[in-house]
Amino acid sequence: MSRTLLLITAVAMASGALGQNIHYEMNDAHFHLTNYIQEGLNIRDFLKIMGTRVGRTALFGIPLQQTWSFQTDGQSAPKYYLQSDAPLYYYSFTDAQIAMAYRSLTKEEQARFDPMITGFNPADMYAAEHIRRVLLTFPGVFSGIGEFTIHKEFVSSKVAGDNASLLNPALDRVLDFAGEVGLVVIIHNDVDVPFPKDEAEPAYLGQMKAVLKRHPNTTIIWAHTGLGRIIRPIRQHAAKIEEILADPQFQHVYFDISWDEVAKYFISTPEATAIAADLIQRFPDRFLFGTDEVAPTDQEQYLKVFRMYEPLWAQLDVATREKVRLRNYERLFDNARAKVRAWERAQNLRSATKENQ
Ligand SMILES: [Zn+2]
Repeated sequence: MSRTLLLITAVAMASGALGQNIHYEMNDAHFHLTNYIQEGLNIRDFLKIMGTRVGRTALFGIPLQQTWSFQTDGQSAPKYYLQSDAPLYYYSFTDAQIAMAYRSLTKEEQARFDPMITGFNPADMYAAEHIRRVLLTFPGVFSGIGEFTIHKEFVSSKVAGDNASLLNPALDRVLDFAGEVGLVVIIHNDVDVPFPKDEAEPAYLGQMKAVLKRHPNTTIIWAHTGLGRIIRPIRQHAAKIEEILADPQFQHVYFDISWDEVAKYFISTPEATAIAADLIQRFPDRFLFGTDEVAPTDQEQYLKVFRMYEPLWAQLDVATREKVRLRNYERLFDNARAKVRAWERAQNLRSATKENQ
């Protein structure tokens, strides 16, 4: 064997061994591959950005498309919902885009993604039928639904058609169906309206708890712990979250701490960080890290939220940190993968039996 070949073989063996021993720092429970005009980065480029730091990612687009209304914006094409008064509308093709991106990968690469269905209108009684159709069209792909949005500052009022509502039975149908199939649900719902009266109970807390309670067999991740850009931690936010975590009726409910807007609150003061760390420490199985990045261009940008959380990571013990960053994701999504694949197989069997009759 020539010296060059020997060298190549040695390098290949070393990197092969390395490949099996990568210790990822985190999984990302909340990631948008595309933006509000359905543009984003190639999934292979994103894999490079995940690199050796991020193991797995819950992968979705954004179901809402910002209209480019010439009447409203003329030649200045809006790229974000805050840049235009024109409406947003549900863009179901996002699910096909995500599924095809996932299918373009090798088996090993696919193992690092949990694609999610988002292209449905949660105010439509037919929404659950869309989800079923996507699963049957792209079997072997999806692990969950979401992030989809009910109440969100600046966004809800811009969506064409009926406002999404926690009181709408269309949402119950979606959550029932997710439970039946085993799909993980990631739901964005602001816990409050943007400028609440100080003493008032958060506007949507009661409704949200009622919805969660009605679906005990569905695994639900409440995104951003219910906070937003100007939905500030209500006085007692941690206490309200704790009430949910401590109540056995909400055993199926989890929280993600994604979004720089949320990290901003958690690290705003040493007291805020201490309160968040204490809560997570007492319920270590119920929180998931996520970035909420939208089509990032490099790893620096992608891991911004992870870095923002440094003060929080520093206050968690090793086991808790490991759970929030890695293990809770693995447990929830491994479970979902197995259940959804079993449901898909059962559907196939059912249609095969029908054909044979
Ligand atoms: Zn969100």
